[in-house]
Amino acid sequence: MQTIMIIFGTRPEAIKMAPLVTELSHRKNCRPLLCVSGQHRRMLDEVLCAFAMRPDYDLNIMRENQSPVGVTARILEALEPILRDTRPDTVLVHGDTATAQAAALCAFLAGIPIGHVEAGLRTYDMRHPFPEEFNRRAISLVARWHFAPTEEAASNLRREGVCRDNIFVTGNTVVDALRSTVRPDFSHPLLSWAEGRRLILLTTHRHESIGPTMRGMLRAVARVASEHTDIAILCPLHPNPAVRSVAGQVLSGIPNLRITDPLGVTEFHNLLARSFLVLTDSGGVQEEAASLGIPALVLRDKTERPEGIRAGALRLTGTAEEDVYRNFLLLLKDPKIYRHMAETTHPYGDGRAAVRIADILLGEQICGVRDKEPNGNPVVQE
Ligand code: UDP
Repeated sequence: MQTIMIIFGTRPEAIKMAPLVTELSHRKNCRPLLCVSGQHRRMLDEVLCAFAMRPDYDLNIMRENQSPVGVTARILEALEPILRDTRPDTVLVHGDTATAQAAALCAFLAGIPIGHVEAGLRTYDMRHPFPEEFNRRAISLVARWHFAPTEEAASNLRREGVCRDNIFVTGNTVVDALRSTVRPDFSHPLLSWAEGRRLILLTTHRHESIGPTMRGMLRAVARVASEHTDIAILCPLHPNPAVRSVAGQVLSGIPNLRITDPLGVTEFHNLLARSFLVLTDSGGVQEEAASLGIPALVLRDKTERPEGIRAGALRLTGTAEEDVYRNFLLLLKDPKIYRHMAETTHPYGDGRAAVRIADILLGEQICGVRDKEPNGNPVVQE
């Protein structure tokens, strides 16, 4: 019997780890333990409830105006005694959050092997996305199992010297999650509000865009909304006060643009599946849109998810107001470009990532952590 502790703390991690929590709980030779940090308290709790996940440990570390430093410090302190008491065989973390980075460090210091889900995404620019690029790379240094969602992510890891036997291309678990949330019979008052118009979803929250950049991007959206009454733009706002303040100033008072609180994950997935287009700087929403065949304009200068761009499902707009405005208009007015984006193949997986990860963790023998140190010296195998 293997004890696997799954640790996460934010909305996107919870959505993408939910299929794995379910899968591991159905396996006979596994005792899964769920530990949440509570980094995003309300949004996390909504996802826990939507996927019927009950944490065994809740670090409850969220504070008002919290900083990544405070989050990291509180997780290290709270998690250490739990790892000492439970001694799981494996710790599983996801992606690139402060919770994932701190939990991986804590497990590493405790000598517990780490599995990294959604490993290998890179921009190779430490400031974009900030601080997520650092978090993801730091976890790669200490992980034993690297679950890469795509071949491209796996090849980043191989190039960095990670032992190829420890890298597994599994697909992204977000596709598994969509399989359980998107329903043909979904109805919602916001769908009725948009009826007869093309529904556009808008989400923005990136740390590096907050300030004049975000103001410019939102101004571009407001201009398009005012000029085109045949679209209905829905903007579920991230709770970050800096995002709410600028969005409140730039986006209010436009009749065909509606601002809401964050939507529940089931609502969001189903509304996305019925949208004409999504404008987003979110990582997870890029993958979801590409997997559902909904064209997405990515409001960023760089993305660590280039597969969707190359496949043609996503289009990187940059963050300048005029670039966002021009790309938004293009998608509204050019059916050929729109159709091309909507009809691409899905680059992020087939919805069986959680099964693959569970099979590997519970069945396979893995060799040492990496072939070579960055200086070329061989690493002593465990
Ligand atoms: N999401 C949600 N409700 C919303 C907006 C987004 O449930 O109102 C989900 C969305 O489906 C995606 C995830 O939140 O899975 C993305 O989270 P976020 O943009 O906060 O983080 P990122 O993916 O950029 O790390």
